[in-house]
Amino acid sequence: MNDTIQLDADAVLRRFAEEREKRLRPEGFGQYLGLTQDMDRDPWTERQERPPVADHVTFTFVGGGWAGLLTGAELAKRGIHDVRIIDRAGDFGGVWYWNRYPGVMCDSPAALYLPLLEETGHMPSMKYAFQPEILEHCQRIGRHFGLYDKALFHTSVERAEWDEAARLWRITTDRGDSFTSTYLSLGLGFFSTPKLPGIHGIEKFKGKAFHAARWDYAYTGGSPADPRLDKLTDKRVAVIGTGATAIQCIGPVSETAKELYVFQRTPSAVSPRGNGPVDEAWFRSIATPGWQKRYNDAYVRDWTGLWGQPFSLEPSLDPLDDDFAKFAARLRSVILSVPAEIRNPVTVKAALDKASVDIVSEVHEYIRGMVSDPDTAEKLLPWYRPLCKRPTFNDDYLHAYNRPGTRLVDTDGKGVEAITETAVIANGTEYPVDCIIYASGFEFAKDPLRALKFEVLGTGGIDLRSHWAQGVRSLHGLHTRGFPNMFTVQLAQGADFAANVPTGWQDAGETIALIVDHMRQQGLSRVEVEEADELAWSQQIAATPPMPDTRDCTPGLLTFEGGTDPRIALLSGVPEGPRGFFAMMAGWKLSGDFAGLEFQQ
Ligand code: NDP
Repeated sequence: MNDTIQLDADAVLRRFAEEREKRLRPEGFGQYLGLTQDMDRDPWTERQERPPVADHVTFTFVGGGWAGLLTGAELAKRGIHDVRIIDRAGDFGGVWYWNRYPGVMCDSPAALYLPLLEETGHMPSMKYAFQPEILEHCQRIGRHFGLYDKALFHTSVERAEWDEAARLWRITTDRGDSFTSTYLSLGLGFFSTPKLPGIHGIEKFKGKAFHAARWDYAYTGGSPADPRLDKLTDKRVAVIGTGATAIQCIGPVSETAKELYVFQRTPSAVSPRGNGPVDEAWFRSIATPGWQKRYNDAYVRDWTGLWGQPFSLEPSLDPLDDDFAKFAARLRSVILSVPAEIRNPVTVKAALDKASVDIVSEVHEYIRGMVSDPDTAEKLLPWYRPLCKRPTFNDDYLHAYNRPGTRLVDTDGKGVEAITETAVIANGTEYPVDCIIYASGFEFAKDPLRALKFEVLGTGGIDLRSHWAQGVRSLHGLHTRGFPNMFTVQLAQGADFAANVPTGWQDAGETIALIVDHMRQQGLSRVEVEEADELAWSQQIAATPPMPDTRDCTPGLLTFEGGTDPRIALLSGVPEGPRGFFAMMAGWKLSGDFAGLEFQQ
């Protein structure tokens, strides 16, 4: 290996460590605040008065995002239509209901990310879909599978309690509903609660302030479908945060705001997007029966293995010519470049370190080429390993810094110091602004208890919160001892993040629908996971080594803000990774023996 490159690589790795040190905060997640009630109002749908419901349904799903929609769809495919989805939003969509900030889109290819395309007959319009199309697709699924009929929107569950004698769940809500349900499922999402930075004086600000996930188009002008923010022309705007959300909304804000100050704590890695319309002839040529599953399988296969799980030696498929898949393929080829006879965690880590330096150098080169002011460009350079934070892709973000009204305020890892009635203070300088947009992220509910805002009481009145007090316990991430006829659809203890999220939810929905259908056909009324199986599953999760690339990462949500709570170990996916998990679940479903579950008549 060339000496000079080695020296550079060492310097870069040292810089990664220095930048990490600057950012580690003992408060971890405690540095953030929840939204005020006023900031948390639904900007999109008027709340409709309705009489409370007091009935019985077969299946209740709490959460109207992908998890609820896909479980509802899978139940409907098996002829189970008596399904009630509940959400505090005014419609289906989950994150795609709430997040309508200008520029919002999904970074996974639409042909993969939008589930049930074959069943609903939809062809994505763009390679990477914007939010309006994604939300429409959620609504399309809702209509296609009849999920609107019993749905309750603008409704929050207050309590769900298992009634052992009657073998059903008793559910109450903040709208006075009180009904029973044979089954209960929780799919509360992992980015469902927006958070604010706990900046000194944040409550004092007298101008306009909103979170990006509750965008105020009445103030900015424009709309989700037409993000020309024509009311910002006389406004001084602050955006706090430079994560994936900020990267997407800063371009549109910079186009019209009189002055835009972007307050940066950690620069994001940004790469080109290259979006474009889907070619209809191409789409028709690939859309043969079963195509979406095949494409999904290829994607899952390409991603599995990057965090030390066993992986395929076959070359990457990347049928959709996707940047995430290319990124995954590149890291896989780096791992494969280590000769098999010496491939171990130490040699793989060294190879990945070398690749990290190469990748970061390329990102730096791109940023320097895009941003005309060299000082601003230097401040925008990310200094962390590629898998420490979500890579972002955007063609407009960097260009925003070439617009005359936009100014980057880099805080060298410290963040904003204070907020006054009229200004944001950083690096000892006061920046007077009319409006603050918080692109400060979400409570990261990979720990499902972080998203759980109501009581779930199982057998003998045991609270799910107490049951999981020492960490999540489950079989397949889905079943929890003491909570019969209940299914949790979550990242923890299943396929985990490293695959397309709706793929994981669809797989969970298929499993749930299979179990419910089996019970219906066999006249069974109660299902609960066996204690030993729950324990064994959770123990193997706890024994999964941490993702090698995150141990020395700069803090962020993927690293639980640098948290060291031992319960974090129970939030991983299975050691085999998403590919192994889906293969195992396919076998489990096919076998028909429902191993690990205890049924009663
Ligand atoms: P993030 O948590 O990624 O970003 C929050 C930002 O706020 C970070 O830049 C953070 O800095 C900054 N911040 C926090 N506190 C302060 C402070 N006191 N002063 C200054 N800055 C501060 O949230 P996002 O909403 O951007 O993204 C959340 C997730 O949503 C993503 O990881 C992604 O998975 C998903 N997403 C996906 C998209 C897609 O598919 N295209 C689009 C948007 C979001 P620091 O980094 O230092 O913590």
